[in-house]
This record gives sequence, structure tokens and C-alpha cells, in this order.
Amino acid sequence: MKSLIDGYHRFREEGYGELAERLRALAEEQHPTKLLITCSDSRVLPDRIVSALPGDLFVIRNAGNIVPPIDECRNGDGGTLEYAVSVLKVRHIIVCGHSNCGAIKAMMHPEELEGLPMVRGWLAHAGLDTTPTRPEGARSLMRLSADELHAEELAEIDRLVERNVLTQLDHLRTHPYVAARLKRDELHLHGWVFDIPEGRIRAYDRGSGEFVEL
Ligand SMILES: [Zn+2]
Repeated sequence: MKSLIDGYHRFREEGYGELAERLRALAEEQHPTKLLITCSDSRVLPDRIVSALPGDLFVIRNAGNIVPPIDECRNGDGGTLEYAVSVLKVRHIIVCGHSNCGAIKAMMHPEELEGLPMVRGWLAHAGLDTTPTRPEGARSLMRLSADELHAEELAEIDRLVERNVLTQLDHLRTHPYVAARLKRDELHLHGWVFDIPEGRIRAYDRGSGEFVEL
């Protein structure tokens, strides 16, 4: 805890001053125009990687940056999403996955979820374990040596991280308040992946169907 408390004191001494005016202006209400849905992973710093200021970003974080489809969305994130879209009327929703995501690795090794019923339930809840590429990927990995397996697994994680982002964008479209605003062109969806060691973001490009550097 000491590092957190020391960090707070550094914020009071060094960080608060430059934000004070903006924070005071936002004391009564917020009008963010972007909702960022990203992973709980401690290495992903949503505000910092886009240099956001207070009031810029509304954020949902959970394991695997998951948005369950409307029929399965009974958790707090569903309420947060509905609030962001229907009340705050954000103009953009960005689903941002990241390299080497633990939730994706859990998809590839479901046996490691033994004894973790909440995690298993969450990943299944979002329908991730039904994606057709995962079993194929898992089968192909079984033929490789340890080094090849590692390289292949990293590549497979990258591919599944991207696929997961697109799956969650599809799930978002099942939410009627999202669909209605998309139809009226009042809302736009974006898929991103944050590369942790490189500090770079790749964005989904509809034209090419690829993730390309932002
Ligand atoms: Zn993650």
C-alpha cells in the first residue's frame, strides 16, 4: 500500500495543480464523448495511452474487455454501457484489447480455469469459448516443439486478441440502444489492440479487414 499512498501524495504535490482548473470545471457534470472498453490488466493505462484528460473518456474495464451480447448481459457492465450510450450519448465506443491478454490465454487453456468458476463463467458468458478458431488453434499447437510452441502461441494469442475485439464489437451491436444510435449514425464503433512492450495501438481497418497501426 505504501507505493499507492506515496503516489497519492506525489499527485497532490505535482499532478493535481495542472488538472485543478479542469477538475473544478467538471465538478458538477461530465460530457465524455468516448467510451473505452478495455481489459483490467494492470499494464494497460487507458488515459495515458491516448493522453486523455479528466472528462475525456468514460471507461469500462473487465477481464478480456468483454461485452456480453444483450441476451446474456446481466452484470454491472451492461448498466454502465447503457448509461454511457443512452444518457451520456457517447459518439464513439472503442473496444481495446492488448497483447498477451490473460483472458485470451485462458481461452486457449481452459484447463487452467479449474477452481475459477467466476472466471470460467465470465468467459463463457461472453461466448468466447464458442469461437471456431480456438479449438483449431489449440489442436495445431499440439504438434509443435517447445520453442515453436511458444512462438506459435504468442502469434495465436495476438490473432485471438484481435478476433476477441471484433467479437465484442459484434456483441455491442446486439444492444438495442447501441444499434439504434448506430443506425442514426450518431455512434461509431472502433476496435483497437494495445501492444504492451511497444506501447503502440493497432486499429481495425474495415477496408482491409486488418489491424493496422493507428
Ligand atoms: Zn487482458
